[in-house]
Amino acid sequence: TFIILYIYYKHIKKTTQKIEDTIKQTYHSAMTDDLTKLYNRRYYNEFVGIELKRAIRNNKYVSFFMLDIDHFKLYNDAYGHFNGDNVIKEVAAVIRNNLQRETDLSFRLGGEEFAIFITDKKFTDIRYLAQKIIQDIYNLNINHEHNSDYGRVTISVGIKSQLAHKELHIDDLYKKADDALYEAKQNGRNQLKIG
Ligand code: GH3
Ligand code: MG
Ligand code: MG
Repeated sequence: TFIILYIYYKHIKKTTQKIEDTIKQTYHSAMTDDLTKLYNRRYYNEFVGIELKRAIRNNKYVSFFMLDIDHFKLYNDAYGHFNGDNVIKEVAAVIRNNLQRETDLSFRLGGEEFAIFITDKKFTDIRYLAQKIIQDIYNLNINHEHNSDYGRVTISVGIKSQLAHKELHIDDLYKKADDALYEAKQNGRNQLKIG
C-alpha cells in the first residue's frame, strides 16, 4: 500500500506542478505584450494604481514617463507596417535595457506609445534616464526620411515627477505626463519635457 500511495502522491505532485506552470504562463501572457515583451495596458490598469499606493505609504518620489515614436504614421506609410512593427520592437528593447531594477515598470500602452513608472529616483537621475533613452534610440539610426528634422527614428518623452501624496491618483500622473509629451512634440520632437 505504501508504494502505491507513494506513486499516487508523486503523480499528484507532478500534475499540480503542471497546473501551476500553466497558470503562471497564462498569467504572464495575459499581462505582457507579445511584440515587445513589455507589460501591456491590462497590467498597467491592474497594478500601477497599487504600486502608486505603496509609494504613497512609503512617502516616495514617483515618476511617470510617456514615450511616443515621432511621426510614426509617416513611417508606416513609407516603409510598411511590418517594418513599423520592427521599429516598435527595437524601441521597446532600448526602453527595457535602460531599466535595471525590478521595480522600474515599463509598458506598451498601445500602438507606438510606451510608459514607464519609477519610484524612488531623484529628479536629476530621471532627466538623465530619459535623455539616455532618447539618445540610444537616435543612435539606432533607423532611416525615417519623413521625420522632418532628424531623418531617422526618434521619440519624444513627457514626464511627471513628484513626491507621492495621499490625494495623488495615477490618472493625474498620466494626464500631466501626456501634457508634457504634447509639449515635447510641439517643441520639435526627439526631446523630453518634464511637467
Ligand atoms: P507624432 O509625432 O505626433 O506622434 O505623430 P504620429 O504619426 O506618430 O502620431 P499618431 O498617433 O497620429 O500616429 C500613430 C501611428 O502609429 C498610427 C499608425 O500608423 C501607427 N501604429 C499604431 N500602432 C501600430 C502598430 O502596432 N504597428 C505599426 N506598425 N504601426 C502602428
Ligand atoms: Mg507618435
Ligand atoms: Mg501616438
